[in-house]
Amino acid sequence: MDYVYKRSEFKRPPAQLEHVDLKLSFYEDRVEASGTLHCRARETMREIALDCDGKKVTYPLDREYAAGEQFTVAVEHVSHPDGKRLEGIYRDVTPGEGRAPARPQQYMSQCQQYGFQRILPIIDDCTAKCTFRTVLEGDARYTHLISNGDLVEGMRLDDGRQRVVYEMRRPMAPYLFLACAGTWEVLADEVEYPDTHRKVKLEYLVPPGHLDGAREPMRILKESVLFQHELTGYEYPFEVYRTICMEKSLYGGMENTGNTTIITEAALIDDTIPDRRLVYAYGVIPHEYEHNHCGSGVTMETVFDMWLNEAYTVNVERAYLARVFGADYMRRGEIAALRGTGGAFAEEEAGMAGAVVREGVNDPDEVVDAITYDKAPEVLNTLRALIGADAYDAAWREYFRRFAGGNANTDDFLAVFSEVSGRDVRALIGPYLFSVGFPTVHAAWDWKDGRMTVSFTQDMGGSRSCATENPKGAHLSRPSFTIPVTWTAVKDGKDLCGGVFTLEPSDASMARTEFSAPFPVKPDFISWNRGGAFYGMLVPSATEEQLACQARTDPDGGNRVEAMGLLRDRNCTKTWLAIYQEIFADQSLDLGLKSELLAIPADSIDRHRRARVRENVQEMRALRRAAALKIGVAELASAVAQERDPPFDAAGGTRSCASDIVAAIKRRAYESCILQLLAAANVPESWAAIRAYLARATNITARLNALRALVASDDPERKETLEKAGVDLRKSLNGYISYLGLVANDPHADVFDAIAREEQREGWSITHPGLSRALYCGFAANGDQLWTPRGLAWLESTLVKYAEVSEYNAIRLLAPLAVWRRFEPGLRAEVKGLLERVAAKLPRDRYAFIGGKLAGLLA
Ligand SMILES: [Zn+2]
Repeated sequence: MDYVYKRSEFKRPPAQLEHVDLKLSFYEDRVEASGTLHCRARETMREIALDCDGKKVTYPLDREYAAGEQFTVAVEHVSHPDGKRLEGIYRDVTPGEGRAPARPQQYMSQCQQYGFQRILPIIDDCTAKCTFRTVLEGDARYTHLISNGDLVEGMRLDDGRQRVVYEMRRPMAPYLFLACAGTWEVLADEVEYPDTHRKVKLEYLVPPGHLDGAREPMRILKESVLFQHELTGYEYPFEVYRTICMEKSLYGGMENTGNTTIITEAALIDDTIPDRRLVYAYGVIPHEYEHNHCGSGVTMETVFDMWLNEAYTVNVERAYLARVFGADYMRRGEIAALRGTGGAFAEEEAGMAGAVVREGVNDPDEVVDAITYDKAPEVLNTLRALIGADAYDAAWREYFRRFAGGNANTDDFLAVFSEVSGRDVRALIGPYLFSVGFPTVHAAWDWKDGRMTVSFTQDMGGSRSCATENPKGAHLSRPSFTIPVTWTAVKDGKDLCGGVFTLEPSDASMARTEFSAPFPVKPDFISWNRGGAFYGMLVPSATEEQLACQARTDPDGGNRVEAMGLLRDRNCTKTWLAIYQEIFADQSLDLGLKSELLAIPADSIDRHRRARVRENVQEMRALRRAAALKIGVAELASAVAQERDPPFDAAGGTRSCASDIVAAIKRRAYESCILQLLAAANVPESWAAIRAYLARATNITARLNALRALVASDDPERKETLEKAGVDLRKSLNGYISYLGLVANDPHADVFDAIAREEQREGWSITHPGLSRALYCGFAANGDQLWTPRGLAWLESTLVKYAEVSEYNAIRLLAPLAVWRRFEPGLRAEVKGLLERVAAKLPRDRYAFIGGKLAGLLA
C-alpha cells in the first residue's frame, strides 16, 4: 500500500531546533501566533523547510550556514479554529456557555502528532527537542493561561487583557507543547517523595462548580506519583504538575509535559461517573503522569516508534490498576479487550492494521489504535516471559539511563535489550513487532502409563497475507514466532505442577512439536497459557468432560471463563447450563469472577465463529433465556433484591477505602448479569423485578444497568421510563453520555427514530466527540439492529457524515465490519457493497485516513 508518511523516508531534519520564543494572543474568533525559532544547522543550509498546517513550506535564509552554525527564523501565523479539527489550538466548550456570567471563549490545544504546526510553522519532529519561552495574552477574565514549564511572569494589561510568561528549560518535543486559555477552578495539593523529601505541587483544574469531583482523582494522582516512583525510580523534575479538564478531544487524555489534559467525563469522579469510566479514570491518571518519564524524558524518535512510549506506559498503568482492582480481575478484562470488536486481534485479521512498527501511515493519528495500546504492551509481556523479569527490568533501566533527555527508536530499544539480556531480542520479538498477525497454538496432551506427552501445532490466526518487511529488509513469507507457552496440570481442583514450553521459530510451519516426560499422576486437565502469557491464541484440544471439569475447578479464574466459552462454542448446551446453574448458586465465588462466568455476550472464543454476527446475537438471546428459565425468575429477582450502595460522598467518606469501591463495582457487575437474565426472561414478573431494582438504585451504574435491562425487555413502559430518566441524566456530561448509550443500544426496531430524535436535541452536536461517539458508537455495538437492512443503511450514511467531521471517530464505526470476509455469504456481499460505496464517497485524496482504512479492508 502507498502511504503519506513512510518509515523509510524519516531522517533527522537538516537543522536541530534548540529554542523557541513565541507569543500567542487569544481572541474570541482567532489565535495570533508569532515567534522565533533558534536552530543549529546539521549540514550546509541556504533555506529551511518548516512544517506549516500539514504542508512543508520553504523559507530562504539570509545567507548560507555551515554545519554547526546557529541561525534564527522569525515566523507568524493566525489560526481561526472551526470547531471540527481538534488539533493545534481549538475551541473547547466554554463553561456555562450562553449563561451569565459570560466567559471568554475556552481554548485548548492538542499537538500530538502534528498539531504544533497548526499553531506556528516549526520543525514538527519528535527529535526537535528544544526549550521554550512562551508568552500568552488573553482576556483578563480567563482564570488561567497555561503553557509548559515554570510561570515566570504574570501581569494585567491596560486593555482588559492579561499576559503570562512560561519558561520550559528542559528540551521538549513540539508534540508535547500545550497552550490553553480558559476558566477553571483549582484543587491544589502536593506530594512528597519519601526518600528525598522533595515536594511537587499538584493542581487539578476543573470546570467551575466541580471542585468536589477532583478530590478522589487528586488522591489517585498522589498515589500514582509515589507508585510510579517506587516502580521505576523516576522523580518528577518540575515544580508543578497540572491536570486540566477538557471537554472536546479525540483522546481520553494527553500528556503535555507537566500539563496533562483529561476529558472532563473521566477527569472528575462524582456521583455521575459510571463504573466503567471510573476504572478508566484510575488508569488514565497514572498513565498520563508516567509519560513525563517515558515520552517527555525519553522521547520516541518518530511516530513509528510511538509504541515505545505507549507500551511501557500502558504497562505502568496496568500495574497500578492491578494493585487497586486485583491483577487477575484486570488481566481478564485486558484479554477480553484484545479479543473483542475493535481489539487488536480483529484489526489484524481484518488487514486494517497489524505490525506494531509500521511501514507507513496516512495520518499520524493512525498509530493511536489497538495495535499500539493493546498489542504492543502484550509484545513486551511476551518479551518478559522469554528473557525473564530480571533481565527485562534491568534492560528498561538501562534504556532510560542511556536515552534520558533524548530520543530513542525501535533499533535502540532492541540493541539495549539484546545487550542487557545477552539474547538476540530482534530475533525473539521481531516477528511480533514487524509483521501482521498473531500466532495460534493448538495444544494437546496425552497421559499413558506414567508418561505425559504434549504436542503443539501452530497456525497463523491473525493474518491474511504476511508479505511484510522484516527489519533487515528481507521479505518473510510468514512470521516465525518464538512462543512461551505456560502450562499447569490440575487435579481435584489443585495445581499439581507446571512450567513453560518455548516454541522456537523452527517449530512453526504447521509442524507438530512434541514433548514427553515421566508424569506419575494423570491430571484432570491442563490449564494452558494462564493470564495470556504470549500475544496470540491458544486453542486447547480437550474433551467436553475435561472442559466441564475445568469450568468447575480450575484455580485460575480466567481459564474457567475460557472453558465456559469453549463449551458454548462447541454447542455443549446441556453441560454449559448445568454448570451455569451451579455457578449462580455458588455463594463463595468472588463476584467479579462470578459476573464474568455468568455474562453471556454475543461472542465466542473461536475466531471464525465470532464472525457469525447475526447467529451469535440469536444464540446469545436463546442462551440467556434458557439460563433464566432454568434458574427461575423468582430466584433471579431475589438475587438483586438488595441494593446496598451507600450514597456518594465526594469528600471521600465512602471512598476512603479502595477495596470498598472495588467490591461495589464487582457486585454491580454481577447484578447487571442477573438483570440481563431477567430481561431475557421477559415476563411481567421479571420486568417488575428490574423496576424494583431501578427504584431502589442510588448509584449511577446500578441505575444504568437497570435501565439497560428494561430497554432490552418488552416492558410496555420501558420507553416512558427511559424518557423520564433521561431528563435527569442529561444534566451532567457523564449522565448524558450514558443516556445516549442506552438509547443507541435499544434492541427494538424503533431505535432508529430514537437516534434521529437525539441528533435533533438541543445541546447534542456531531462535533462534540463525547456525545457523538456515545450515540454513534453505541449503535455500532447494537448487534440486534446493526445487521438488519436498516441498520446497515444507517451505518453507511452515518459513516460518510461522521467522516466529514472526524475521520478518527468515524473509523470506530468500521470496527464491527472488520472481519467481513468471514461473514456468511449473504451478509458478506451486503457489507462489501457498503464498504465499496462508502469508499467511493470518501476518496483517498481527500480522506487519507479513513480512505486508507477502507482500502485496507477491501484489499
Ligand atoms: Zn499514552
